[in-house]
Amino acid sequence: MVEDVVKTLKVRIKNEVLTTRKKERLWRITGRDTRIIEKYVRIIHHNRRKICTKTKNGKIRVHRGKLDELTLTTSKVKEEERRKTVPHDLKRMFPYCSHNEFQECRDIAVQLYEQGYRPSPTRPPIKRARRQLINGKRFILIHLPKEKNNTLTRWWVGIRDSLDTWRRNTPYHQKLWLPLEMSTFHQKELKKGRVKSLELRYKRSTHEWWVYFQLRVLPPSFYPTKEDNSSSLPSAVLGIDLGINIPAAGVLLTPKKKLTKKEIKFWYNKQWNRINHRYKLKLSRLQRKAALNDQSGKKHQIYRFLALLRRRYKNVKRAYIYQFISDVVQTIETYARMYDLFVVVGYPKHIREEKGKGKSTRNFRRKLHQWNFSLVLTLLRRALILRGFDPHRILTIEERGTSSHCSRCGRKVIRPVRGLVHCSSCGYTFHSDLTGAMNIARKFLGVLFRPQGNTITDYLTGQRFSSTHFIVCLGLSHWLQPQ
Ligand SMILES: [Zn+2]
Repeated sequence: MVEDVVKTLKVRIKNEVLTTRKKERLWRITGRDTRIIEKYVRIIHHNRRKICTKTKNGKIRVHRGKLDELTLTTSKVKEEERRKTVPHDLKRMFPYCSHNEFQECRDIAVQLYEQGYRPSPTRPPIKRARRQLINGKRFILIHLPKEKNNTLTRWWVGIRDSLDTWRRNTPYHQKLWLPLEMSTFHQKELKKGRVKSLELRYKRSTHEWWVYFQLRVLPPSFYPTKEDNSSSLPSAVLGIDLGINIPAAGVLLTPKKKLTKKEIKFWYNKQWNRINHRYKLKLSRLQRKAALNDQSGKKHQIYRFLALLRRRYKNVKRAYIYQFISDVVQTIETYARMYDLFVVVGYPKHIREEKGKGKSTRNFRRKLHQWNFSLVLTLLRRALILRGFDPHRILTIEERGTSSHCSRCGRKVIRPVRGLVHCSSCGYTFHSDLTGAMNIARKFLGVLFRPQGNTITDYLTGQRFSSTHFIVCLGLSHWLQPQ
């Protein structure tokens, strides 16, 4: 049942001992592709009359064979079919690039052109890549023990150069050896999983190269096996409602028939709301300034500052999201020690359409569209699985209608003030976010208690689980009746 997770491990390359030649080769590995692709796009555009055709529905198709005839010489075919000269000899422009790589770049360029990318003097060229993904077959990671190695570096990664190096008229692939700064933490993390691929990245801020390993980790199981004492814990369902003003509210439904303070949880950060507001104010002010035309001399300064501010805001936001996730995970872990716990999160799929234009205030809509619940949910799920939760214990279900119905009797409610819901038929008044959370948990239980055998689909991943996984929840049936 346990699902493996891909984790990233960042390791610094010892940049200070890299030779200039090695650095140059690193640049060639990451930066080469884009230059060739750009070249290809220009060639296609220049010869578009010869090699492009239009389909019936007006789309442009590029003939790849004809493009090859313009760009690549051939040497491995019969004498009479050999192309010795071509109008745009790419092999002469990029002598270190292999045939296969030209082919890859050609396919990307053709795709770009067919999608509508055109070279133009005003448009900046395709950005120079500062990262390159290298799959498992193209590198090896080695550890040299102290006795066998007289250098200071114990860990090396060897990347098979995809560039052709010529020796005695035959091409072969050299290995580029990079020294790694591997701490004990890194070594521990490496032992947990299998290295799948790596990414080379250049950090512009520090002018350093880094290796990002992608590890496939099999998380430990949080719950003891069925034969052990897991059945001795009472079962519980935690419903979580994601909101905008309050990021998340949770209600824990336990075998007890009443809710107390212990079973209610808000995840809320006052400081964040203030910081968020301040950044948004600053950004909007600057944007307005940039849109005005009268300060022609200072304009580039404003743009530069705007870019800086946006970047900073993004980083602050990310840090906040991670903090939020770790808070939620902590609470869930404490609950999981006391109960046989299932977590159900509402996925607000239709909220953007329902609260669309003309139906709520502009400010609210802006908040709504900037709110990335999908990211939050994915991160939460990942964090829990990494801590050993089974995937069927973290479910995402559609939350439609959960916050507009009474959590006691199920009838439609009204909202007298913001943040409260009131049911006119049973007279119950409750916090609106908690109503949502409670209804999400109840909706989940409702699916389980349907008479036919059912499967539950996780909204986020589309995985299906049969209801036999949730049999322990049958002890919570009293939550379905009106309280
Ligand atoms: Zn009611």
